[in-house]
Amino acid sequence: HEALLEIKDLHTGFDIGGETFHAVKGVSFSVKPKEVVCVVGESGCGKSVMSLSIMDLLPKHNGKIDKGQILFKGKDLVPLNDKEMNKIRGKDISMIFQEPMTALNPVLTIGYQIEEVLFNHTSTRKEEIRKKSISLLKQVGISRAEQIVNEYPHQLSGGMRQRVMIAIAIACQPQLLIADEPTTALDVTVQAQILELIKQIQDEVGMAVLLITHDLGVVAELADQVVVMYAGQVVEQADADRIFYNPQHPYTKSLLGSIPKMDERVEVLNTIKGIVPSLKNMPQKGCRFVDRCPVAMDACREIDPLLGETEKGHAVRCILYDASKPGQKAEVR
Ligand code: SF4
Ligand code: MG
Repeated sequence: HEALLEIKDLHTGFDIGGETFHAVKGVSFSVKPKEVVCVVGESGCGKSVMSLSIMDLLPKHNGKIDKGQILFKGKDLVPLNDKEMNKIRGKDISMIFQEPMTALNPVLTIGYQIEEVLFNHTSTRKEEIRKKSISLLKQVGISRAEQIVNEYPHQLSGGMRQRVMIAIAIACQPQLLIADEPTTALDVTVQAQILELIKQIQDEVGMAVLLITHDLGVVAELADQVVVMYAGQVVEQADADRIFYNPQHPYTKSLLGSIPKMDERVEVLNTIKGIVPSLKNMPQKGCRFVDRCPVAMDACREIDPLLGETEKGHAVRCILYDASKPGQKAEVR
């Protein structure tokens, strides 16, 4: 299998008042070993629901995958039960989140929390475990590791806590790390350090990274491949160079237009006008971006645009690029 992770036609729905609304509707993409794939889009586009679907961490009372496959090394994770998923989570696939304070247990020491993972998923000998947790903390750039193992999460800064989360995530040398907005809650200088750390660790451990972010600066820093999501669907997908130098979907172009310029003293964020439609207000047919698209046509309300390749390795969901639909642009193909 060339792909480490292959998501095929994933549909994840939420039951709201007896009706199912899809936060993820037909998402497909794959992650190769040691590759960094960034999933980008504004909040509310289904990125987190997609990543929680992979890890089987959807809210049990109303969220469920009702169609599609999540193949990890060729094996579908969707039908697995809790026990089977527990073996994979934290071992083959790890996840870090935006807010490390909520992911860490406030009443347990840092050392205990790392050692629990080592104990559950590895055959590290008891007398080696403390040494191993200290060396993991050092690997994520924590110099006072011997002290930190005895401290509690609230004694650390946000950046340090995220380093601890990364140490826990890599404790079992996973093949895939899923990072959902890992730097969003941190201040700017710390963000850069954590991104640098993820890059370094990815290289050292040789793992693939699926990074979920709304921040194109993060994408530019790390991504090999980029998946742009809008309203539960993939709207554009290509390698990072093509996304930045030849963006094609009007949504991707709008996102790129809203990158704050770092060298400007006052950060001006040209946000895209309008908002992502909510689950309940999703257009029933036609393009989901139509109300915000600067180049929308009448046909966009009638026709569901398909995701199609405009060049090898570059897929776009927009009727402007679909030769079989009205409004196509001749120069695209
Ligand atoms: Fe814009 Fe139409 Fe393309 Fe949708 S299909 S992105 S509305 S041009
Ligand atoms: Mg999110």
